[in-house]
Amino acid sequence: MSTLTYTAVEDIPKVHATARKAFDSGKTKSLTFRKEQIAQLGYLIKDNADRLREALHADLGRPYEETDMLDFGPAFGQIKLAYESVEKWNKPQSVDFSLNWFPMRPKMFPEPKGVALLIAPFNIPIFLLFGPLTSAIAAGNAAVLKPSEQTPATSQLLAELLPKYLDPELYHIVNGGVPETTRLLELQWDHILYTGNGRVARIVAAAAAKHLTPLTLELGGKNPVVLDPKVDIKMAAKRILWGRFSNSGQICVCPEYVLVPAHFQDTFVDAIKETYQSFFPEGPENSKSFARIVTEAHAARIKRLLDETKGKIVVGGQTDVSKRYIAPTVVRDVTGDDSLMSEEIFGPVLAIVPVKDVDEAISFIRARDYPLAVYVFSHDKKFQRKVFENTKSGAAVVNETVVNAGVPSLPVGGIGPSGTGYYSGKHAFEQFSHYRTTLNNPGWVDTLIFNFRYPPFKPSYRKY
Ligand code: NAD
Repeated sequence: MSTLTYTAVEDIPKVHATARKAFDSGKTKSLTFRKEQIAQLGYLIKDNADRLREALHADLGRPYEETDMLDFGPAFGQIKLAYESVEKWNKPQSVDFSLNWFPMRPKMFPEPKGVALLIAPFNIPIFLLFGPLTSAIAAGNAAVLKPSEQTPATSQLLAELLPKYLDPELYHIVNGGVPETTRLLELQWDHILYTGNGRVARIVAAAAAKHLTPLTLELGGKNPVVLDPKVDIKMAAKRILWGRFSNSGQICVCPEYVLVPAHFQDTFVDAIKETYQSFFPEGPENSKSFARIVTEAHAARIKRLLDETKGKIVVGGQTDVSKRYIAPTVVRDVTGDDSLMSEEIFGPVLAIVPVKDVDEAISFIRARDYPLAVYVFSHDKKFQRKVFENTKSGAAVVNETVVNAGVPSLPVGGIGPSGTGYYSGKHAFEQFSHYRTTLNNPGWVDTLIFNFRYPPFKPSYRKY
């Protein structure tokens, strides 16, 4: 296990003060400067891709290709989008035309909020830091980044690399666990973006409330798949299993359970078995295409959920907590009160929940917290519409899983318990910006239109 050097708690206010001073110096005002910094993030990844892949392999047993798919690709997507859009995003915005007000030229223009705090989880450490950081830089903010202590090799490497590539006064990494993050949260920030679980989100929200700091929360939940029995089942099985087993199931938008008509469960299970064999011909434990769970504690938690399930294991089921190994597993005949439905699994275990029909599937979803995504596998537009119109979630996706989070211009965001606000691109830029309103009223406006406001008032001015 790699060791991570924690930032000294007493140094944390100095980091905050340095970032604030650098922001106040005004150097982020230049759009050229912002673009340079964004480009530097791209070079950081490009120049150090092998070291980053190795660090993620050490932390998560992550196949190198998966790091390219889950971290590098989406991060480059954000970097390219922001680099190309900085000027456009920062343009003043005119407001809806109104005959009464247009001579005053009312407008809004984005200004940086100031110094942002970005707290990230372990599962996709580069994208989940660099995605929002890119938008924060595009908006002209300084930022302090808090990577997860659960990925020590990656967090250590990021702390080494970031100051070599970005302005070291404006952008900082603080490494550590609960005491360090607690100290960070005591300070006054201009925006906090937290990605992680709902329990800690409540701590972060309470700390933000003390300073009335605006907050973006990117959380988790249990994402359902609704399966139409008329769908191309091979395609569905492939995309669902890929989504569930990527990064060993540690992705916030992973499908967690599949609602399938009871009469169709056997057919779906057959397709699952065939796909499973094609994904892991040498068995998953020997596969170079399957990651590990981040810590033994998380592996033990997932094993307990599996031990307690009353469902039947269709494929997988093997565990080795000391090796942080949970086999990719599918469990059938899972019911709503099963252990596998009691919390976000965040591991490579897919539950199949048989239901009577699509109405029961919808009721099942509605009885639970709003998830980050509802996935529908169906070629029938009416079926798709019915599910989406009767459920709520961050994203509503047809015949696909997970990739929605990688589309650069499509913001990632939850609703209610799965989060609030948006993660990436222009939508995140807007969250790191304050839209300052302005107008400029020429003197002649008083003579022609606006003189009635001055006393003494005349009853003829009563308009409503
Ligand atoms: P984690 O354990 O790495 O914790 C996340 C961050 O919170 C870390 O930086 C950690 O230091 C900090 N933290 C932990 N305890 C704290 C405390 N008591 N006070 C202050 N800070 C504390 O990761 P996790 O939370 O287990 O992450 C997994 C969760 O994140 C899942 O629920 C997943 O669905 C969610 N997630 C959401 C998104 C999204 O975009 N919505 C993306 C990735 C992960």
